[in-house]
Amino acid sequence: MTDMVNGEMLQLARESRGFTQGRLSRLASISQSKISKYERDYAPISDSDLTVIARVLDYPKSFFHQSVQPRGFGVSGVYHRRRQSIPMLTLKKIQAEFNIRTMEIEKLLEGAEVKAENEFHRLDVEDFDDNAELIAELVRAQWNLPLGPIKSVIGVIESAGGIVLKCDMGTRKLDAQSRWISGLPPLFFANKDIPTDRLRFTLAHEMGHVIMHRIPTTNIEDEANQFASSFLMPRREIIPDLIPFSLERAVRLKLKWKVSIAALIMRAFDLGILTKSQKRRFFTLMGAAGYRTVEPVTLPDDEEPATLRRLIEVYHKEHDYTTAELCNMLAVNEADFRMLYLQAPPLRIHKF
Ligand SMILES: [Zn+2]
Repeated sequence: MTDMVNGEMLQLARESRGFTQGRLSRLASISQSKISKYERDYAPISDSDLTVIARVLDYPKSFFHQSVQPRGFGVSGVYHRRRQSIPMLTLKKIQAEFNIRTMEIEKLLEGAEVKAENEFHRLDVEDFDDNAELIAELVRAQWNLPLGPIKSVIGVIESAGGIVLKCDMGTRKLDAQSRWISGLPPLFFANKDIPTDRLRFTLAHEMGHVIMHRIPTTNIEDEANQFASSFLMPRREIIPDLIPFSLERAVRLKLKWKVSIAALIMRAFDLGILTKSQKRRFFTLMGAAGYRTVEPVTLPDDEEPATLRRLIEVYHKEHDYTTAELCNMLAVNEADFRMLYLQAPPLRIHKF
């Protein structure tokens, strides 16, 4: 018996497991040239080949029949400096997982609605004289956010209809990734292994990209950082806290503003409270105390996404879907589903 599979889905599945064609070929005992052919187009595939590939890659067979529109990293992926050092296979794995999650979220949203009190709007940074701080202030005002520290960045994103998913990136070199595809809410994929202060800053940074950047330019990283810094530490409210600036004070402020000490030093410098040499001195002090690698005071791990769980709940409770039916609809295996959407430990361990 032969069947047709979508080659792009096969490639996506393989890359999402971090496999090269060679590795899949060895594990499935199918020649690499055959796999390459299957991936290139809708090539006929024998049922036995599809069965073994599905088993090795641990996806249901239905996964490989889906149509897909391959998507890149989007604007926020272009200038990430740290990305240069991530191995290509890891990068492909992350990108494939983003694509798969995006497809799943798209399907989930077809049958359930996300209600949100606020909305994401694009505010092109060029229209604001490249002033990301002004945009951050506007967004805080538009969304009626209270003065002072942001209690939960994920909460703010979700209250504006964005969807956040914490994922296992397999590297600590990539903190988060966002994309805003037409017809979908902005999606934020965050590394589950980073500390809370870093998670909050990186998500605010990605918000900046989503809101301000349609076309990548060389300034977008600085602008997104400026947005994040101003969004989390508004000028007027943080200045009284930062004067006089000291490291002991910054440790206390970290708990209040829920940002890293490094972010507080940078903000104090941006606001003219610290000179360049003072900034350098504080970073040297931090380095000497070992704070550059691990900062003192750990923030509680209280940034948790809720929207996706609620969506799943709608399917379970209102649409009477069993977990198996949901997995079937999403073309995902149950272990992956539980780990990703129910945040429960996987039922079985990958053998490879
Ligand atoms: Zn960025």
